Amino acid sequence: MIVMEGEATVEQIENVIKEIKRCRLRADLSKGKYRSVIGIVGDESKINFTHLAILPGVKEVLRIETPYKLISRGYAKLWEGLSGDKIIRVGDIEIGGEEPVFIAGPCAIESKAQLFRIAEGVKMAGAHILRGGIFKPRSSVHSFQGLGAGGREEAREALDWLREAGRKFELPVITEVRGETQVDLVADYVDIIQIGARNMYDQDLLAQVAKKGKPVLFKRHFGAGVEEFLSFAEYIVAEGNRDIILCERGLVPIGKGKNYTRYILDLAAVPVIQKETYLPILVDPSHATGRRDLIFSMSCAAIAAGASGLMIEVHYNPAEALVDGQQMITPDELKDVIDACRRVRKATRGIVKT
Ligand code: PEP
Ligand code: MN
Repeated sequence: MIVMEGEATVEQIENVIKEIKRCRLRADLSKGKYRSVIGIVGDESKINFTHLAILPGVKEVLRIETPYKLISRGYAKLWEGLSGDKIIRVGDIEIGGEEPVFIAGPCAIESKAQLFRIAEGVKMAGAHILRGGIFKPRSSVHSFQGLGAGGREEAREALDWLREAGRKFELPVITEVRGETQVDLVADYVDIIQIGARNMYDQDLLAQVAKKGKPVLFKRHFGAGVEEFLSFAEYIVAEGNRDIILCERGLVPIGKGKNYTRYILDLAAVPVIQKETYLPILVDPSHATGRRDLIFSMSCAAIAAGASGLMIEVHYNPAEALVDGQQMITPDELKDVIDACRRVRKATRGIVKT
C-alpha cells in the first residue's frame, strides 16, 4: 500500500502508478477526502518498496499481510474515503446500512405467471430485491436446469420477465451467472449479478463479472474457509469493482448432519467477516438449512449476529416448485420473517458489537 501525501499532485500519483505498472503489477487507486492510497495488485516481491518510498509525493509505504488486503479494514483505514462499513446502493436501497435488506423470490423462474405472482407477494411482504434463477447450478444433469438451459432465446425471455417484474413492483433484480458465456447477457438485464457457491473459486468468471461494473452478490463455497472466501472476493476488487455483497450460505454438513439440515449455517462467520472487511455480509438461510421450518429462527439469528440482510427463497405454493420447494416459504411467512427481523435489529442494534 502506498499512502500519498495529502498535497500529492496528480502527476505524482500517476508516477507511482507508472512505477507499479513498470514492474508488471496492477494498481488500485483509492482517492480519499484527504489523501490517496494506492494498492498493489499482484506479487509484491516484484517491486522494490524502498524505491517506492522515496518517490515524490509518497508519505509512506506499508505492507498489509493478508491475502485480501484491498477489502480489508486495515486498507480502508488508510484513507478517509472508507472509514466505516461500505454501503452499496442499488436504486434507493442501501445494502450495508442500518436497516436489514431482504432479497426474496423463487429458486428458479419457471414461467412469467409464477414470477409475477411471487414478485407481487414478496413486495407486499416488505422485500427490497427480487431474485430468480435462470441458469441453475444443479448436482444432476437430469434435473431442471433453469429456463436458461433451453437456449439463448429462452434465457432472454426469462430475463425480460425478471426485469419487467422488477419494474412493475419497484424491486431491483438479481440472478446468477453460472458461466462466462452468460455474463454479457445477464448483465444487460439485472441490477446485481450473483456468483453462486459452486463458482466461488472460478477466478476468470469473477474477473469477467467484476468488469461489468455492477454490484456482485458473492456466495461462499460450502467448503471454503473465511480466508479463502475473502481472498476470492479480492479478485473482484482487483478489477476495480468494490461493490461486493458477501453471502454466507452454509458449509458441508459433517457426520449424519445431512439428515437434519442441508448444510451447516456458519453464523459465526458473520461477525468474523465484519471484523476483517468493510463489505456487507448477507445470510441465505434457505440453502443453508434446506428446511422451511427453520427459516424464521435462522433469519432472526442471522440478523442478531449482525448480518446486513437475508436472501430467502419464496413461492406461493412451495409444493409445486420445480426446485428447492422443501426450503421455500410463502409470501405471508416472509412477511412474518421480515417483521421479526426488523424487531430483532432494533432490539440488538448497539448491543451486538462487531
Ligand atoms: C441460489 O441462490 O440460487 C443458489 C443456487 O445458491 P448457492 O449457490 O448458495 O447454492
Ligand atoms: Mn435454490
